[in-house]
Amino acid sequence: MNVLLSLDGLSYQLFEHYASTFIKNGFFYCKKLITTFPSVTFNAHATAITGNQFDKHLVVDNVLSRTGSRDKVLLYGDHELICNEALHRQTLFYSLANKGLKSCCIHWPLTSGNIYIDHLVTESSSKKKISDAEPIDKMDQLALQEAIQAIASGAFDFIAARFVGYDALSHKHGKESPEALRCLHTLLGYIAKIHNELEKSQAAYNLIVFSDHGQSDVRTFFYPNEVLARSRWRQHLLANQIRFVGDGSGALLFYSSLEPWENAEIMDYFNGLAEVNRFYVVEGDAASEFIPAGILDLNHTVCGEDILAPEQPQYEEMKSLHGYHPDNVDEMNGFMVGIGRQIKPGKVMEQEHLQNIAPTLAKLFQIPHICDGREINDIIREHD
Ligand SMILES: [Zn+2]
Repeated sequence: MNVLLSLDGLSYQLFEHYASTFIKNGFFYCKKLITTFPSVTFNAHATAITGNQFDKHLVVDNVLSRTGSRDKVLLYGDHELICNEALHRQTLFYSLANKGLKSCCIHWPLTSGNIYIDHLVTESSSKKKISDAEPIDKMDQLALQEAIQAIASGAFDFIAARFVGYDALSHKHGKESPEALRCLHTLLGYIAKIHNELEKSQAAYNLIVFSDHGQSDVRTFFYPNEVLARSRWRQHLLANQIRFVGDGSGALLFYSSLEPWENAEIMDYFNGLAEVNRFYVVEGDAASEFIPAGILDLNHTVCGEDILAPEQPQYEEMKSLHGYHPDNVDEMNGFMVGIGRQIKPGKVMEQEHLQNIAPTLAKLFQIPHICDGREINDIIREHD
């Protein structure tokens, strides 16, 4: 049995404070797990479970648009726009099902309708069970219960679960706020419980724990559509030919039906602004209408929103956020630890990439899994 746990939103720097306990208990420790760009939950989890980047899985961000219409497409909840057979067939769940192996998946983004998962608990289905008055922690209590039951049942070869509380409380109170840290300690306790349950089960197992991205503090706000509205490209904006899309993030997607040279002029202009780190061009032929022309990476501590008057900002209360390019804001990167029968105990590695998780798990299962990531052979024991 292989178990993959995601601690949403925990930066590698913060995890460092807790790493020694894991190493002492025989876990391997990868100090820095390079995340995706944009460094957001949906993109990163799609990459972790497929072994591909957004050029293949198309989950560029939590919020997308279309090149043609430029309507805003929210990926939260249940939908089939991106969360469809084309995505599900890239997941490790598909490769496992092909070999007759059974999966359980709890609160992993973009899994609704994935028929290759034998027991699926979606985030949206759990949210419906929880009243608004209940604390955020309730989601993770449910995830823990489901994971423990799944292990105890012995019915699954693979269990993937995601814990959301730390990320949510960081956004609300700050990445090192008492509220977020209290939740983090609870979640580290949950990991210990899951580990104990695996030990108790007496089945051979591997347990891998990682975070999808980090968090960093917000100081200022930036509204690039408002900048366009005051620029010489105002008419293009009003004609819906160009638009930034993003949901309170360190990076925003830029959709455009203008010519590449016109996009280049807009990008040059934004590159000259103090709030901007770099306007990245998305290279290559777009595999889908959801792929943007560019991604506007903001400077550290700047929070971007896609509002255009008369829309009002929604995220001025937000204390921490993510989305930035991990090359520019190092604390966007996550961590990884793991233990188990096929894993080298106590191994410490400097860095690895999120997209290598899926192929590494496939190797542990000894099944084929086609993707762009590669196996992390350094952590795998040569002989079982
Ligand atoms: Zn988040």
